[in-house]
Amino acid sequence: MRYLSTRGHPDRRRFCDILLEGLAPDGGLYLPEQYPKVDAATLAKWRGLSYAELAFEVLSLYVDDIPAADLKALCAKTYTAEVFGSDEIVPLRELEDGVYLEALSNGPTLAFKDMAMQLLGNLFEYELNRRGEQLNILGATSGDTGSAAEYAMRGKKGVRVFMTSPDGRMSPFQQAQMFSLQDANIHNIAVDGVFDDCQDIVKAVSNDLGFKRKYKIGTVNSINWARLLAQVVYYFAGYFQATASNDKQVSFTVPSGNFGNVCAGHVARMMGLPIRTLVVATNENDVLDEFFRTGVYRVRAAADTHETSSPSMDISKASNFERFVFDLVGRDGAKTRALFEGELGRAGRFDLRGDPVFAQAAQRFGFASSRSTHADRLATIRDTDKRFATLIDTHTADGLKAAREHLVAGVPMIVLETALPIKFAETIVEALGHEPARPARFEGIEALPKRVVKLPADAEAVKAYIAQHCD
Ligand SMILES: *Cc1c(COP(=O)(O)O)cnc(C)c1O
Repeated sequence: MRYLSTRGHPDRRRFCDILLEGLAPDGGLYLPEQYPKVDAATLAKWRGLSYAELAFEVLSLYVDDIPAADLKALCAKTYTAEVFGSDEIVPLRELEDGVYLEALSNGPTLAFKDMAMQLLGNLFEYELNRRGEQLNILGATSGDTGSAAEYAMRGKKGVRVFMTSPDGRMSPFQQAQMFSLQDANIHNIAVDGVFDDCQDIVKAVSNDLGFKRKYKIGTVNSINWARLLAQVVYYFAGYFQATASNDKQVSFTVPSGNFGNVCAGHVARMMGLPIRTLVVATNENDVLDEFFRTGVYRVRAAADTHETSSPSMDISKASNFERFVFDLVGRDGAKTRALFEGELGRAGRFDLRGDPVFAQAAQRFGFASSRSTHADRLATIRDTDKRFATLIDTHTADGLKAAREHLVAGVPMIVLETALPIKFAETIVEALGHEPARPARFEGIEALPKRVVKLPADAEAVKAYIAQHCD
């Protein structure tokens, strides 16, 4: 299996080459040269597998530069009941007739990002050790991504994490999750500023190529192909749980921000998993819903990006969207480049309304979309609590509302549960008047000793801190 860039660069790379990288050299995203097809016999064989075994089978189709025994061991070490809370890893439950919730948020940080990040931690450690190299991951977070990265990389050999966050702006629970980690290779940096300041610092440090090379600076952002690949597995796992045989179709609804999660569903569908519809659920930040309804992709300015009660979906542009558009335009790298570098760079938007390929987003690729508001989230959380005695988080509520708008009789609809309600307690209190239950292992974490350094919103100060802590 070789990987290509969505913008037409002639190079072809292997899995471990792109594992530790971000963008392709021409600014595109990496995708496999073709999607391996899973036939009926393979699907039948996979139905009986454990999650770790299934992960190994899916990954094997895309990874040919890690010996099979090693890859198998990495999957077995990652997907355990101990880390994810149950043998199913992603248990499915029926909520109402034909509507299911697939639980992706029982990992260490209670959001679905653990599903991929935990594997990434083990892959990084393995590959860095094989090369005799080190990596310093620099990131910016306002919540879920940073904690998922820290819990995945803690204690890993060859890896350090320097995670910036806006001082005092994360929820007390999120702060406690991150700052209570005492591992020597995890560095929390509370920046005197807002999230955008943190992102600017990461950009400034990464643009200093001399510093970047000397201190082996890397990232773990959502465009990483290995993260996306790890997410493909739970589409198969959800399908097997919702159906009794492989001649059935299902649909998925995916609370979406950067389009990483639902892009993994697209990959599973391209491999031949019988998915009828992929519903993209957005909140008030409806860049993606607008595209799937109208054919216009219009990136928002920072001032037009709303702060909502499903904050992990508050995006101004969807960083993985280019992967799908590349497939939509017939894998034409020049056309993808013209859209994302040309039109988007020039005008902040592109328009496929007049292009015959746009109709294929729904017809050939099965995409649909919906949008929700804060009031919708409150109503859905209340209704789900009252009728089904089930507490869902704000992102999952966006999903459930969207799912109901796209139900088809006889086709199970699987809503991906992307976080647990305890992470967004404030909105739960607003909806229900009481705090959500807290898993026992998080009892009292706010009172634990905190390991965090405060720095000014200044890239030089962050560079100096990194240099001091990389012997
Ligand atoms: C990251 C995140 C999302 C959005 O996922 P994308 O892959 O960026 O589309 C949705 N819900 C939660 C809880 C998240 O943490």
